[in-house]
Amino acid sequence: MIQTRQDEHNPAELDKPPYSSKSYSGDSRHLRLGADDSDRGAKNSVIYSCGRYLQKVATGLNSLFSGMGVTIRYFVNPGRIITQQYPENRESLRMMERFRGHVVMIHDENDHHRCTGCGICEKACPNGTISVLTTKDRAGRKVLGRYIYRFSQCTLCNLCIESCPFGAITMGRDFELAVYDRQLLTFILNKTQGGI
Ligand code: SF4
Ligand code: SF4
Repeated sequence: MIQTRQDEHNPAELDKPPYSSKSYSGDSRHLRLGADDSDRGAKNSVIYSCGRYLQKVATGLNSLFSGMGVTIRYFVNPGRIITQQYPENRESLRMMERFRGHVVMIHDENDHHRCTGCGICEKACPNGTISVLTTKDRAGRKVLGRYIYRFSQCTLCNLCIESCPFGAITMGRDFELAVYDRQLLTFILNKTQGGI
């Protein structure tokens, strides 16, 4: 029998509700199972969130008590406090041994230094911060004339100090060295010409 297009798309069939219980009984069972899985997933998610929350509370409390322990330890033992009350103690503050303020030349009580003007530190400096200008003494020997140090260029790398074979220079412990004029950051480190 030849079907017409009207039989294929019977208007009466099209008017039926698409999800009648008869035709979708199996699908509804699957939908029920999907809802159970969803409930279980939600419960797991809540348990996970609670666990994470409690873990963070425990971590926070541990951190709090650790910090309070340090505070209480120093409170009952103030002699161990190493915090500097800067700038109130500016006059008495002494920087630690390893502090690098800027390069200085070591002088004795008569303002003599050990620099021979050899120029090794000048060569060791990676950025041309140092200029060693030599002169001659009365006997015609080469001696240090001026030791020019440009603090504005210095990276405080310490290479010049490590390279000096005579221990003539070191890092100073001065601080608060900021100025408004760059020219003020160029120093002549030797107080006297020649050496000891
Ligand atoms: S500390 Fe470094 S950058 Fe500064 S003068 Fe010495 S070698 Fe040069
Ligand atoms: S500071 Fe040391 S390395 Fe530099 S010129 Fe003087 S003696 Fe030589």
